[in-house]
Parts: sequence; structure tokens; C-alpha cells
Amino acid sequence: MQFQRLRLSGFKSFVDATELRIEPGITGIVGPNGCGKSNLLEALRWVMGANSAKAMRAGGMDDVIFAGSGGRSSRNHAEVVLTIDNAERRAPAAYNDSPVLEVVRRIDRGEGSTYRINGREVRARDVHLLFADASTGSNSPALVRQGQISELIAAKPQNRRMILEEAAGVSGLHTRRHEAELRLRAAETNLSRLDDIARELD
Ligand code: ATP
Repeated sequence: MQFQRLRLSGFKSFVDATELRIEPGITGIVGPNGCGKSNLLEALRWVMGANSAKAMRAGGMDDVIFAGSGGRSSRNHAEVVLTIDNAERRAPAAYNDSPVLEVVRRIDRGEGSTYRINGREVRARDVHLLFADASTGSNSPALVRQGQISELIAAKPQNRRMILEEAAGVSGLHTRRHEAELRLRAAETNLSRLDDIARELD
């Protein structure tokens, strides 16, 4: 899946609606200090479901909303839209009737985030799995932030393994396995309850 366009509005320093085209190949973001380069990368991670305030360099998730500056008042919501080329139908089957995917994340102050894929409201989990299955996502090694290369060199083997798993596209399988294990445990509890009841009735 090729990212085509990133549209931001009210996200961090991008108070006005801003649209960027993402061309095939490597994309580098250059500009003077403080112009918003890292904010752009964070917008990309955020729309893919990043949920750690720390990863967003924020105290709380509402801090991604434009907080006001230069005489402009703060906003009450932020929205990021990522348009993805799905011409080769690499997206999970549920979305493969469409040649273009539009993933939207919106946050309203005090109310949390909502997600939409092609106009349909979805859960955060659906967005995570969409990107995990396509070997990308908010933790993808394809997004290289400042200082990340030196962190990678110094990383513990377990952390390096997580990066390789993300690149190999197996992190979605881990999520599904975890969910399946939870369901299995719930079923086992129900079965042993059933045994107890059957014994009482005998
Ligand atoms: P550097 O090259 O120094 O790393 P950068 O180009 O990566 O800088 P960013 O860190 O992306 O710049 O942007 C920093 C700017 O974003 C600061 O001016 C900061 O005030 C602004 N900013 C961050 N969060 C918000 C927010 N919620 N509302 C308004 N402005 C914000």
C-alpha cells in the first residue's frame, strides 16, 4: 500500500488545513528548526493509531490539538486524513473493494478520538490491524524520527526483535493471538462453571 496524501487540520502547529503529497520512494522532511517536521511524522503515526502521549511528545492526547499561538486562538478538535493507494489490493480483504483508502482520525477536546475508514466509523483496533497486516503502522521502521538510528544501535535484542516483527508484518498476528487466548480462557472458565453446575444437578 502506497501512502498518497496526508491532510492535517488543527493538529499541533498545523492549525490551517494543510495537504502534503507523498510520492513513491523515500520521503525526507527538511526545514528550519521548529517549523513542524516532527509534527508531520507524528501526524502520520497518530492517524495510524498511535496512542502513547509520550510518542506524540504530549502530556495528554488532547495536546495534539492546536493550542493557540501568534494571536490565533486554540482549536477544539484536530483531524488527520491519510489517503492510501490500494490499486494493487494489498489491504486486508474487508477493504479490498476500493482502489483508494481514506483513513481519518479525529479528536475532540475532552472526548477522545474517533476513526473512519472510507467514511465508515471503525474501532482503533481495525485501524491498527489494517496497518499491521500491511507491514506498516505507527511503530513502523519505515518512519524514521530524529535520534532513532542511534537508539536502534543501542537497543536490547528483544526491542530489535519487535522492530523486525513489525517489518515482517507479523505484529497483527500477535494481536489476534492475544485476543484468541483471552477468548479461550473465557470459554475454559465457562466450561468449568458448567461442570460444577452439572455435578450439582447429578
Ligand atoms: P527541530 O528541527 O528543532 O526538531 P521541527 O521542525 O521538528 O523542529 P516540531 O518539533 O515538529 O519542529 O514543531 C515544533 C513546533 O510545534 C513548536 O513551535 C511548538 O510550539 C509547536 N507545537 C507543538 N504542539 C503544538 C500545539 N498543540 N499547538 C500549537 N503549536 C504546537
